Amino acid sequence: MAAAPKVEIAAQGAKSPRTLEFLKSGPKNLLINGKWVPAKSGKTFESINPANEEVLALVAEGGKEDIDEAVKAARAAFEEGPWSKLRPHDRTKYLLKVADLIERNREELAELSSLDNGAPIMGGQGLVTAANELFTYFAGWPTKIYGETSPSAPDMFNYTLREPIGVCGQIIPWNGPLMSASNKLAHALSTGNTVVLKPAEQACLVVLRLGELLMEAGIPEGVVNIVPGFGPVAGAALSNHPDVDKVAFTGSTTTGKEILKASVATLKHVSLELGGKSPHIIFADSDLEGALNYAAMGIFGNTGQACIAGSRIFVQEKVHDQFVEGLVNKAKQHKLGAQFEAGTTMGPVVSKVQHQRVLGYINAGKQEGAHTAIGGGPGPQPRGFFVQPTVFTGVRNDMKIAREEIFGPVAAVLPFKDENDAVFQGNDTTYGLAAGIWTRDISRAHKVARKLKAGMVWINCYMVLDFAMPFGGYKQSGQGREFSNHSIDMYTQVKSVFVKL
Ligand code: ADP
Repeated sequence: MAAAPKVEIAAQGAKSPRTLEFLKSGPKNLLINGKWVPAKSGKTFESINPANEEVLALVAEGGKEDIDEAVKAARAAFEEGPWSKLRPHDRTKYLLKVADLIERNREELAELSSLDNGAPIMGGQGLVTAANELFTYFAGWPTKIYGETSPSAPDMFNYTLREPIGVCGQIIPWNGPLMSASNKLAHALSTGNTVVLKPAEQACLVVLRLGELLMEAGIPEGVVNIVPGFGPVAGAALSNHPDVDKVAFTGSTTTGKEILKASVATLKHVSLELGGKSPHIIFADSDLEGALNYAAMGIFGNTGQACIAGSRIFVQEKVHDQFVEGLVNKAKQHKLGAQFEAGTTMGPVVSKVQHQRVLGYINAGKQEGAHTAIGGGPGPQPRGFFVQPTVFTGVRNDMKIAREEIFGPVAAVLPFKDENDAVFQGNDTTYGLAAGIWTRDISRAHKVARKLKAGMVWINCYMVLDFAMPFGGYKQSGQGREFSNHSIDMYTQVKSVFVKL
């Protein structure tokens, strides 16, 4: 039996009494069929604060049997339960209620979110805003999912219905768990599906708290089930489950391929939001100050743990040195620290595994001959998974640090000659999630935007999200689009009805 966590120490500096209350209220259980239950195996795992390596809480470790129970509950809620019988207007009301509860519990959710993955509290706050807006945006959809009447023979009346897919298995990562969970749930619920959600083992506390708010909002039992557990066990059980109709996954490209393979046996619908190695291209004629601000935010924001991180920064030769100097200054201005420490602008990476991984990439960069302009090692803190913001120059596109997703605060700066060179190098990657372009030449901006093989292109800005715009990747960065009208197709299927008159 594991010792009870020393919550005050682990949650160092959390201000909301409700945060401590939540963490202290015993092991966190699984949400199955509207009830909080321990794992059938009785096993728990430790949720660690990445800033000090202390245990925040013990969490029930979901396994195959728990996933089975959760899928059964989601199936019953979909087929017989109230969810499929609700008027769309009522689904809207539920989603608005969740959005409202998120806002009303802002402080606690922001703190839990930051404790979960180490992000400074400002980052946690931002995710609460995003979670609220996701539920609000998708609350508008239930009454706007139309079928159509189709031209047909004089003695026929043909129409289509757009119906939910059924039981959705949703598997999310740890880099922004509150936003990821809200995103996945809002998509599925607005379109009338039911859900088994598996949060990431590294950061699931805020997702469990969100589960409590869903229950408080009155979401009927079985409609949302939340089963934390490890990827190869609980995640694999969910993605292989024969009674799951759709799997929606956000995470690494490697795991995404496993999920796709697992879908084959029962031909599940699959949507994948995967990794990236996004080019951020700075032309010499750009607003360099703006470009610097966004380039720094694009790679150092959330400690570089973002699928859309602008991790390959291409700078036109003429302004290369000046730009590097500016980026190094931006890196210098970061203060590494714990979530609630005054002045913290950059938190740790999420786990020991990630820490070793990111430092391994930094070493690879050095060994391959890239120049470390700043950073290049762990943070000075004796505990916690800190990494110095790092800028590599002299990088070639064939180096490991330019090809593989690092998911840490590590910028690879590469020079380019002209427009063609920028496009060629920018596209020279297996990924295709996002891209940034900085130039004052409006026609070049649009031309380059067309030529870059990426799901999202930002011109004279970076990492701007709007839930009314589709989000997803080209190439090995994913399949399908989240947010916007495009996502509705991904969570519904079309039925053609033929009526003989
Ligand atoms: P990372 O390596 O950055 O943790 P992953 O893609 O492995 O990214 O993790 C994202 C999510 O996928 C997590 O919830 C994790 O538990 C889950 N996961 C990992 N491996 C598998 C797997 N084989 N099958 C299903 N889910 C998995």
